[in-house]
Amino acid sequence: MGDDKNTTLVSQYIDRYALLCCLNWIKSSLEDVLNSEEFKKEVLKGEFNSTNGLSNQQLYDKIMTAHEEEGPGGQDGVVDLMVRTLRIDSDESDWRKPCDKRTIGVDGAGTGITAICPQKLAKWVKDGRPEYLAAHYAHEYIHILGFHHDKKPKDESFVYQIGDTVEDLAEKLRKSRLNAS
Ligand SMILES: [Zn+2]
Repeated sequence: MGDDKNTTLVSQYIDRYALLCCLNWIKSSLEDVLNSEEFKKEVLKGEFNSTNGLSNQQLYDKIMTAHEEEGPGGQDGVVDLMVRTLRIDSDESDWRKPCDKRTIGVDGAGTGITAICPQKLAKWVKDGRPEYLAAHYAHEYIHILGFHHDKKPKDESFVYQIGDTVEDLAEKLRKSRLNAS
């Protein structure tokens, strides 16, 4: 990693379901991607909107410094990712239908705690696609670092682009591990 500070991912799950099903996935995909040279390269050469006026180097440093702007945060240099699962069987049953369709989850609305649809979690585990989960959490984490996607086109926002980059790199990583084993 040269002179860069490694960002260690410590996922502070507040939800047992997510913890049981996905902790290893998160450790092995998101953490490795964020600390990779490829990720750094992609961030440094990317063209993004909604960057809060930061340069590419500053954006990269922002991720590596991992100082959460929203929610309780935690230690700098550590991705303090707080996730829970939507309670579609109880008080959050309004989310059941959107979760059956395209919704992946909801952001924490400033609380720093993002909630995922249990259907998506279950499907990705079953399909063996940790990259989707890594991408979703990366997207939400960039929100927690204080970025949004209010400018158009929103797919070109820093938030969306980081999600896409993490998905690509995590998929590559999964495939290279398959080949190596
Ligand atoms: Zn978003």
